[in-house]
Amino acid sequence: MPRSEPIKAVRGMRDILPRERAIWRVAEKAAADVARSFGYAEIVTPVIEHAELIERVGEDTDAVAKELYRFDDRGGRHLALRPEATAGVVRAYFEGHLNQEPPPARLFLIGPMFRYNRPQKGRYRQFFQLDVEAIGSDSPALDAEVIEIAATWLHELGLRELRLELNTIGDSKCRPAYLELLRAYYRPLQDQLHGDCQRRLETNPLLLLDCKVPQCQPFKVDAPRITDHLCEECTVAWAAVRRLLDASGIEYRLDPYLVRGLDYYTRTVFEIYPANGEGAQDALGGGGRYDGLAEAEGWPPTPGVGFAGGLDRVTELVKAGGAEVIAAPAAEVVVLADAGLDVAAADVARICRTVRSVAVDYESKSLKAKMRSANKLGARWVLLLSAAEVERRVVQLKEMASGEQVEVGWADLPSHLA
Ligand code: AMP
Repeated sequence: MPRSEPIKAVRGMRDILPRERAIWRVAEKAAADVARSFGYAEIVTPVIEHAELIERVGEDTDAVAKELYRFDDRGGRHLALRPEATAGVVRAYFEGHLNQEPPPARLFLIGPMFRYNRPQKGRYRQFFQLDVEAIGSDSPALDAEVIEIAATWLHELGLRELRLELNTIGDSKCRPAYLELLRAYYRPLQDQLHGDCQRRLETNPLLLLDCKVPQCQPFKVDAPRITDHLCEECTVAWAAVRRLLDASGIEYRLDPYLVRGLDYYTRTVFEIYPANGEGAQDALGGGGRYDGLAEAEGWPPTPGVGFAGGLDRVTELVKAGGAEVIAAPAAEVVVLADAGLDVAAADVARICRTVRSVAVDYESKSLKAKMRSANKLGARWVLLLSAAEVERRVVQLKEMASGEQVEVGWADLPSHLA
């Protein structure tokens, strides 16, 4: 790269500038408030994990097979940037001995995830998720609970036109026999399926239901449905989840083709879309039960259920909906002092900072230019300070909107600005 080229951001990584942060902060605060209101506590896990942790639990998924950021550190460890949060949260649950506390552990996390996919609108290589996990219990009430948290969060953000898709994929007891039925149904049709589906027919037939390729669509309608082949426990759990959602007034659509391709996923799966959106690219969030995940990581078998919502897409949708999130000015008060009065200006700022956000304009510009800048920044007040005023320990306090100006003693500033 020639020296004169400025260095730009990495492809697929983006900055969230202060004017956009306002909306992000609203979304994050709503997420934390809603999660806490359901008794979920915040957890932070590293963005770097052993590649094996991620690979073991997601080998067949795109997020791992094709999209994982893998690297070796200087110590020769094989590491990865996390593509999702659940694997790390479940690891932390055991390492942090949360499994010794009364179940379930109710946890939430907000943070960046990384996937090396093709960047486009709504799809980035670094993106942010709200992750909600209830670990240690197989109660279907928790499936409904995480769905309710997701729905409440989006509702709080003013996103009301949503579509919640719901399905169950059984468990290790009933799914194997169902998969055999599915294979038996598709085998005579194999030649008519597209390449990937032909291969998946034997290895992972559940994914045939999820296929979006047009030539595979006509066969889905007559395919056997897992909901007709659930074991007793899964039948009871499936009914309970729907009953609880009905009781909490959450609308959903049953989608027999909504599946997960990994063995450790069990029972409930769900996705949330904007009502008018269609592509998978629009999903605002999704989740489900993963009773086999802990074991897949090498820990004792432990059930869990969770939800991951995408903050990038959620904030974009909130913005597109015209939500009025007015960015607070970075500083409510700007101190404009004459040249050579930096120490006094900083002193005055410190006094005001007890009640307001304050910035000092240290630029060597004319007073008029400084006023213009303060106005542009949206300051509510400016404080004018000359040598004579420093001597008397007073300032001229000017309210920008009214233009009114009064002389105030330094000690009285907090009460004037409060
Ligand atoms: P997933 O873990 O794939 O179910 O993703 C959960 C949610 O995270 C999705 O519904 C999206 O809202 C969001 N998400 C996933 N991948 C990306 C990405 N590459 N860029 C932006 N948001 C994403």
